Amino acid sequence: MSTIFGRILNGEIPATRVWEDEDGVAFRDVNPQAPTHILLIPRKPIARLSEMAAEDAPLIGRLMHAATQIAAQEGLTDARYVINDGAGAGQTVFHLHIHIIGGRDLGWPPG
Ligand code: 5GP
Repeated sequence: MSTIFGRILNGEIPATRVWEDEDGVAFRDVNPQAPTHILLIPRKPIARLSEMAAEDAPLIGRLMHAATQIAAQEGLTDARYVINDGAGAGQTVFHLHIHIIGGRDLGWPPG
């Protein structure tokens, strides 16, 4: 099933890409919640975190490492990495994505 992020991956919809490799692509969120708000997605269309297979674990691990590199590239010393898993948790696009958020003080708990 293709989502809006699938269409960003294949270039049908424009996005401001900040990083990519064979595992995934990172681009700026269209509705940023902080000065830096980037979405990192795998090229593999995993719908949500709880649908990842055990064999996806190395891929997700590499993407988490990439997320820290992207945060550093953005000049962030502190950042929040968020994965919303399911509509009740705030997920609106069903292509797994890691939010990389920073550039301001972030409160806890989130809403
Ligand atoms: P979720 O709520 O699923 O965790 O996050 C989806 C995110 O995707 C939201 O922060 C939303 O602003 C962002 N988003 C939705 N559509 C687009 C789009 O077409 N382009 C970009 N760059 N971001 C999008």
